[in-house]
Amino acid sequence: MKAIRRFHVRTVLPEPLAPLGELATNLRWSWHSRTRDLFRDIDPQRWDEVGHDPVALLASLSGDELDRLSTDEAFVTRVREAADGLRRYLESPQWFQEWTASEHGPAAIAYFSAEFGITSVLPQYSGGLGILAGDHLKSASDLGVPIVGIGLFYKTGYFSQSLSRDGWQQETYPLHDPDNLPLSLVREHDGSPALVSLRLPEGRLLRAHIWKAQVGRVPLLLLDSDVDGNDDAARELTSRLYGGGGDHRLQQELLLGVGGVRALRIWSRLTGAPEPEVYHCNEGHAGFLGVERISELVSQRGLTFDEALEAVRAGTVFTTHTPVPAGIDRFGVDQVQRYLGGDCALPGVPVERIVPLGAEDYDGGSAGIFNMAVMGLRLAQRANGVSQLHGEVSRGMFDGLWPGFDDSEVPIASITNGVHAPTWMDRRVVELAQRHLGSDRVRHEDGWNDISNVPAEDMWHVKREMRQQLVDDVRRRVRDSWVTRGASAAELGWTQEILDPDVLTIGFARRVPTYKRLTLMLRDPARLRRLLLDPDRPVQLVIAGKAHPADDTGKKLIQQMVQFADDPKIRHRIVFLPDYDIAMARRLYPGCDVWLNNPLRPFEACGTSGMKAALNGGLNLSILDGWWDEWYDGHNGWAIPTADPSTGSGQAAMDADRRDDLEAAALYALIENHVAAQFYDRDEQDLPQRWIAMVAHTLRTLGPKVLATRMVRDYVTRLYAPAAHASRARAADDFAQARELASYRRAARGAFGQVHVDHVDSEGVGDAPQVGDRIRVKADVSLGTLAPDDVDVQVVFGRASETDELSDVEAVSLTHAEAYDGSRHRFEGEVTLPRTGAFGYTVRVLPRHPGLASPAELGLVVNA
Ligand SMILES: *Cc1c(COP(=O)(O)O)cnc(C)c1O
Repeated sequence: MKAIRRFHVRTVLPEPLAPLGELATNLRWSWHSRTRDLFRDIDPQRWDEVGHDPVALLASLSGDELDRLSTDEAFVTRVREAADGLRRYLESPQWFQEWTASEHGPAAIAYFSAEFGITSVLPQYSGGLGILAGDHLKSASDLGVPIVGIGLFYKTGYFSQSLSRDGWQQETYPLHDPDNLPLSLVREHDGSPALVSLRLPEGRLLRAHIWKAQVGRVPLLLLDSDVDGNDDAARELTSRLYGGGGDHRLQQELLLGVGGVRALRIWSRLTGAPEPEVYHCNEGHAGFLGVERISELVSQRGLTFDEALEAVRAGTVFTTHTPVPAGIDRFGVDQVQRYLGGDCALPGVPVERIVPLGAEDYDGGSAGIFNMAVMGLRLAQRANGVSQLHGEVSRGMFDGLWPGFDDSEVPIASITNGVHAPTWMDRRVVELAQRHLGSDRVRHEDGWNDISNVPAEDMWHVKREMRQQLVDDVRRRVRDSWVTRGASAAELGWTQEILDPDVLTIGFARRVPTYKRLTLMLRDPARLRRLLLDPDRPVQLVIAGKAHPADDTGKKLIQQMVQFADDPKIRHRIVFLPDYDIAMARRLYPGCDVWLNNPLRPFEACGTSGMKAALNGGLNLSILDGWWDEWYDGHNGWAIPTADPSTGSGQAAMDADRRDDLEAAALYALIENHVAAQFYDRDEQDLPQRWIAMVAHTLRTLGPKVLATRMVRDYVTRLYAPAAHASRARAADDFAQARELASYRRAARGAFGQVHVDHVDSEGVGDAPQVGDRIRVKADVSLGTLAPDDVDVQVVFGRASETDELSDVEAVSLTHAEAYDGSRHRFEGEVTLPRTGAFGYTVRVLPRHPGLASPAELGLVVNA
């Protein structure tokens, strides 16, 4: 029989226990260990059974059990104290409140992302991008930053990974009923579910409900298309993260971007929350949010498309997350025309205006393609990559959008990722700091300055406990995995003896795209085997990672790894754990002594797992890529030499196999001669003093840098606040600046073709110029229809190579001296010779307007 109607009956908590409801649904419990303790103590065994999920735990309690708890005075007091603690956390002023008092920061920021990794209980992530988004929201909450997250609700999440007998990845898609999750449905005042809707081709309508997760102070709105009234295909649209390709993906992204903005409007209308002044597009998936906002301004405020574009750009921030071309969403222009043209067109936005936003109309681009990252960059006045190196790589990768400018001037900044310490630091480490340093500041700032007061012995003891905790977890997981792989309990006794809590433990866990090179360590299997089985200085390896369900290459790598680790001779020293997720990660990082990362440089945009290891006293062993390229200092771990041709050390066309051979050989040598040697170098108390000193150095120096609170402050001060200021300036006086900037852009674009640097003269350099000498530069420039105030005439100077290429350049604006012949002008200024060696300069003309954030912004320049 099929039910004709379905209800969800929620537990009714007796009055003294009522605060448990909010404690369970506010996801702050996921990083607040005392709140988790409260739930655990209700019934420790059941707590394990329900996977440490407070909502599930409460739902499992019978009426009798609830009655008994509600008369347990000690417990009721703890509940009240926990609720008071949560209230204080939610209401007390934090960093942002203090900062914004003088800075007039954004009233609200909308953070759009295709995935959010908050807790394993809400599996809405596939990997680093999602975890980062989760850590961003959590840290924004800690800092009091008024952010609201927007995403999709995937009822089967990404997927759950297990292994077949022969080590092939199996995917399952367990259903997560939102009614059993820490989510609440956003409702209209009359109680009906709030509804977002979008037109689809062929007269179809896509409707979505909005679930709200509460992440500390931060609401996270998740759109769910599994609603009555949708056709079957529409109902299934949001069922999986990165589940479909082509049209399916495009529709998901339309719902996220366009539908997400509509959800925000509903949210503000229903709750009175301020409208966001800044829209942060975390990777390209949500890029259509800008198009929807243009549509709002055109249809409701009477702006033209170009004026609305200027207004929208000012308040939009775009973060690019990958230099791997396959990681960027690209659609056919025809698809975009189908979904945003005809009857599906957004009010006031002809699809002909949308298509150029994502067009790859630059050298090396493909015709007929609509690129989401390119649209992200064109719709955002401010953009960034996620580490210094990734910023640089991105400036090179996208330089076609700003022709005429050096890569160093491409307006893509860098903000290095960080991780949310309260989520990722094992409580033993926090307690270690509390014991010896008297506070838990280590989770928020540079709290390890006095780490020399922490006895080496105690630090080592904590590390061993965490290794033991990992070993226990690994034994359980490997046993369970073998049961799934078809082994009987009787043959699995060995799983209780794998790994050793006193052996050097190396971790490697991440998604399995090719560039991360899961199997690099298998390049020379005999050599790895020797490292594992070394009688005096053994090494053990814990490995995990999911391949995308459509990625057979990745699944082959996993199979190779699993089959290697299945060998009875070494299986006590190397394990592959299926179903890498947040819950596993929280045991894995603390339990590892060394965190290994061997991507193909420079494809790891940042990487964050190594940061999480570092926060738990782990040392990194990594290729100098992403964050490690920036923060490796010779004492906080080891750098695996790379044969990356772009570093200049390798020849340009080194083949991939040879490169892998070289890098793997370097990896083995490092482990043997440095890592293991140092780990097993013990004093008379059996303490590895040199190792512990490296751990202490790592905690003290890397500890504060890798924090997501540092990252979020960087976003607020460097991107969000300038974007909010720009956005206000654009919108003031009925969008006067937006209108004016749009007309300036049009005029400049038309006129720059007639701009010329006619003649440049310099005086002041004699035969033997010296540092500190001044050069007087005079430039005669034709400006066509532009006025002198419309342009910035600059002298650009720096080191000159033998082919006259300039590097380390600086620019000085020249001042207008006189006009002659109508449109010809003389500009003048001075440059002081900055340094010895070959020096060169040139003159260029740039657009000038107070609304521009970077000289390269309009992509217009005339060089002498
Ligand atoms: C941190 C984390 C990642 C991302 O790790 P990278 O080093 O960026 O590859 C992926 N999955 C989980 C579960 C994580 O906790």
